[in-house]
Amino acid sequence: MGDFLDKADELRRLQADGVREALPSFDNVFSVISELQGVYAKSYLDLDNIEALFGAIEMGVLLDKLGERDSVSIKKLRDDIVTLIYKTLETCIQFPASEHQIQPPAPYGAFAEALHGPRDKPRLGSPLQLGFITFNYDLALDFALHKTGIRYGYGLPSQSLQVVPLLKLHGSINWGACAKCGEVVPYPVEDARFSPWRKSEHVRYNQHVRFNLGSSLPQKKHCEVSLPLPPVIVPPTWNKTAYHGQLSSVWRHAARILAKAENVFVIGYSLPETDSFFRYLFALGSESKIRIKRFWVFDPDPSGKVEGRFREMIGRGIESRFQFNKMTFSEAIPAICEALRGV
Ligand SMILES: [Zn+2]
Repeated sequence: MGDFLDKADELRRLQADGVREALPSFDNVFSVISELQGVYAKSYLDLDNIEALFGAIEMGVLLDKLGERDSVSIKKLRDDIVTLIYKTLETCIQFPASEHQIQPPAPYGAFAEALHGPRDKPRLGSPLQLGFITFNYDLALDFALHKTGIRYGYGLPSQSLQVVPLLKLHGSINWGACAKCGEVVPYPVEDARFSPWRKSEHVRYNQHVRFNLGSSLPQKKHCEVSLPLPPVIVPPTWNKTAYHGQLSSVWRHAARILAKAENVFVIGYSLPETDSFFRYLFALGSESKIRIKRFWVFDPDPSGKVEGRFREMIGRGIESRFQFNKMTFSEAIPAICEALRGV
């Protein structure tokens, strides 16, 4: 996330494929950054950080105030930053492809397969023992689970519970909100059609494809109308009230699976000071009679700051179960499998 806006700016300058039609949205977001420099000079707000900027714009919608802009322009800006985010993700996250096979980006495929185990002998018995909570908007994990044969559901009101929960607390680039009834409707990754791959002349080895399910949302219908753009994603700041109706079912599922969890593994989440949402979710969700056996955090942060924040957050009761591992996502995979052997 640190260089997200740099990436987006690079795509804008290059007028890259996939973002060209969204250039006015990109321009609008970059112009608000310079407008706001003056406004926020009096307070600390890192406008080069996509999360802070998204949060500031969201708050602007709520307060109906953002620099010199009027209501209409503020609401438009909100759609524009969502557009910038999903277009940048669609363009930058590439899925390796060879012949007629598309793979999830590394190391997500290895992660899902390690959790699942050999096909004839799944490591974890019933995959229902697994649950995922993620703050990512992209589709890397979704596609990895699908590819591995792990049936998952997003925990949205219309979805079956008899699957592995994949709870995307901040929304997802393949979710659209129905323009008529307001329901959040996913465009499942398994429904994706990679049209170029159907024509053999385009099929080459060592290629990458882009998963543009966000841009494809209007192809999907609900209440007989196309799903509107942009997709349903929310900023990772505390104020999530505007989306309460739409996403609360996902958040409730997350609290429920935390309450049942015996082994909690946190990968690549640095618990930012500003994210009180996760702190409350964990405090309320983990308050149950189940004994947590492991609360392990995997993060390569060398400064000790991430570890310190997690130590502050967890309760005395599970202090002895806490382990901080200075590891990347790839390094975490064998460690988690080892820990789960015999569960
Ligand atoms: Zn509808």
